[in-house]
Amino acid sequence: MYEMLDIAHVVADLSNVTGEVGTIPVTGTPDVTGTTRAMRTPVVGRFAPTPSGRMHLGNVYAMLAAWLSARAADGRIILRIEDIDQPRVLPDADRWIMDDLTWLGLTWDGEPVYQSQRLDRYADAIRMLSTLSSSTSCSPSVSSATVTADHLTFRTNAIYPCFCSRSDIRAASAPQEGDGFVVYPGTCRRLLQHNPDETRARLEHGDQHSLRLFAPNRNVQFTDRVFGSQTFNLAHDLGDTVIRRADGIVSYQLAVTVDDLDMGVTDVVRGRDLLRSTALQLYIREQLIASGWLADNNCDDSDDSDDRDLSERSDSTVASASVDEVSDNAFVEVSAATSVGVPSFAHLPLIDNAAGKRLAKRQRSLDMGVLRARGVSAHRVIGYCAWLLGLLAQPEPCAARDLIDHFSWERLAANRSDRRVPDDPFADFVGSDDAGAH
Ligand code: GLU
Repeated sequence: MYEMLDIAHVVADLSNVTGEVGTIPVTGTPDVTGTTRAMRTPVVGRFAPTPSGRMHLGNVYAMLAAWLSARAADGRIILRIEDIDQPRVLPDADRWIMDDLTWLGLTWDGEPVYQSQRLDRYADAIRMLSTLSSSTSCSPSVSSATVTADHLTFRTNAIYPCFCSRSDIRAASAPQEGDGFVVYPGTCRRLLQHNPDETRARLEHGDQHSLRLFAPNRNVQFTDRVFGSQTFNLAHDLGDTVIRRADGIVSYQLAVTVDDLDMGVTDVVRGRDLLRSTALQLYIREQLIASGWLADNNCDDSDDSDDRDLSERSDSTVASASVDEVSDNAFVEVSAATSVGVPSFAHLPLIDNAAGKRLAKRQRSLDMGVLRARGVSAHRVIGYCAWLLGLLAQPEPCAARDLIDHFSWERLAANRSDRRVPDDPFADFVGSDDAGAH
């Protein structure tokens, strides 16, 4: 029987920088397992593809890792189509992704979830975050100015409008190519701080603006299953982050945090370029919970008594997400509908092409459409990805399900360098596999 604790190692510690800033109070009882019924969290993983093109070998490698991580723990996998950035979405790419996943034997559970159908949920999240008081979100050294517009209250220490240029915004909200972070210098936070009348006037005038979430001077620490202990300082390493772009599109960072929380995701697997994003998402997650997100919003189709239940649970949920009680062998807290413990994270080495550049969907030779048309079998693609993950000594054909029993993060953690694949890793096999055959 697979031992769940083998894969349940995560410590999330959102701690203060010594002496410099104030404490974000943790409401609720630190001993979460002592206050309410604790049980093993059922593992919930997710595929989170952006439907901007056909999957390539690097996408399959990440999907295989996510699938194995969940399936090896008898867990579920959610398919979430991350189509929030509509200008990047390609019509039908969601269907190609589903078709390729099915062909590869990478099954998911339930109906796919489309981010584009959850816009109200993200708007609610922004509203909730904007209600945070300075005691929960702010360094006491920054006194907060306030302006109200568009049914939102803007504060220098929570959410505020930013009128800066597009390039700042793009850099802060698109994680796909490289790390993508630019630490925002705080220009519009200072504007609100020192000249709230001008902020108000610009809003009334209809000046285009994004919304940013203030990043306090705090460290976020977590233990990644592949890359080990990670610490990021919110203010210095991330800066105030865009949560809604100037074009009205909600940022990846906000949407993914809301979704992972709402969907009870316990197991996040993705490229190492998102390590820094994880720190930010843990912070947004903590802030959402502090704002009462789970108590006020997580109702689904439940009746009043369910609502009451969830609000009674909310204290312990805050504790489990914001401090370091989630130790190696603790069972994270589970509510009736939603796991609220901090997820475990595994970030993967990136896959580069022969020239040393990260694989992109533009690189057609390694996309599933081309490989399938050339007759490369699903087992060969899976075997190659399993080898990239350190699960096989050689890139031998194999079925995804045959890897489940042998899955572990150890070999990958032992070799975390990015992988480089030749332009045509299957050249020797073209024609030897049946087209479409597993
Ligand atoms: N949609 C993101 C991507 O395709 C996934 C990010 C994540 O796993 O959080 O890169």
